[in-house]
Amino acid sequence: MTNKQELFFDVIILGSGPAGFSAAIYASRGNLKTAILDISMFGGQPSNYLEIENYPGFSLIGGFELMEKFEEHADKFGVEKFPMVEIERVTLNSELKEIETNDTVFKSKSVIIATGAQAKKLGISGEEEFKGRGVSYCAICDGAFYKDKTVAVVGGGNSAIEEAIYLTKFAQKVYIIHRRDELRADKICQQRAFENEKIEFILSHSPLEIQGTNTVETLVLKDLKTNETKDLKVNGVFPYIGFGPNVENFNGQLKQNQQGFIETDTNMQTSIEGVYAAGDVRNTPLRQVITAASDGAIAACSAVKYVEALEETTKV
Ligand code: NAP
Repeated sequence: MTNKQELFFDVIILGSGPAGFSAAIYASRGNLKTAILDISMFGGQPSNYLEIENYPGFSLIGGFELMEKFEEHADKFGVEKFPMVEIERVTLNSELKEIETNDTVFKSKSVIIATGAQAKKLGISGEEEFKGRGVSYCAICDGAFYKDKTVAVVGGGNSAIEEAIYLTKFAQKVYIIHRRDELRADKICQQRAFENEKIEFILSHSPLEIQGTNTVETLVLKDLKTNETKDLKVNGVFPYIGFGPNVENFNGQLKQNQQGFIETDTNMQTSIEGVYAAGDVRNTPLRQVITAASDGAIAACSAVKYVEALEETTKV
């Protein structure tokens, strides 16, 4: 027997980024008893972004400030909030879904997964230190800050090449650093990069260290053929070595694509009835605040319909 408290909800939202808070607003306005849980502080990835200038209605806003507004908005509708929870178990395959933390068993008719994704890290010295001060994992968010500057993109996949091309809109020079001689990206994407005069490829090299004072100044590279090191003078480093969804608590209960992102239909319904996924954690072509917020709204409306239908059935 567990002596943990039990709490009951119509919908539990896991994750408190734009998808999570948007879902919370729509679900509580849809009259569902709504809880939002996060394993860290509220706000998700955008709360780490220095500035956001592509969220409609705000030509320039701090990421933290924007997410505070999302949270205040959810507060207005009485969403119950549980930050910094330690999740021990998630059971989705039953009619009443359960999320067990160290001190509580949350039980809910429906669940919205909005746990986001994270860029894979290079794991080199200086990467963490200069995050937000020259190291960025989002060219769309931060590219405009590198007008007439020199930047390096690390990786050889579609993301790296496409983001490098995007960065040439602002930067005067973009290096693409890749660990092999051959790129992984689609040929058409490679061709566009080869034809771009602002892009220079440094192949068979891997990054060793990021150096600077207040902001990034140097990317130290290792030539993988000769083992020699060289200093590359850059103002920014954009690692694009793949993204991974935050799905470790679901133990393969849901259908996922090859990269692990959760598969949904257009209603954000996952492979399990009553379980929805929204934002970066799902299989989506664009990972932005606006698309995550939109997913959250759709997921919540689907959950409202599902819970209403469930209540109708149990009435009879
Ligand atoms: P990806 O295809 O997995 O490419 C990651 C790249 O980073 C690879 O070139 C890999 O090198 C390199 N890499 C991995 N770990 C590294 C490390 N520790 N140090 C240095 N380099 C490292 O990831 P992605 O580019 O994010 O794309 C993910 C998926 O989304 C792919 O299926 C991609 O096709 C798709 N995608 C599609 C589009 C599009 O269709 N428009 C756009 C973006 C992404 P190796 O090549 O040597 O393994």
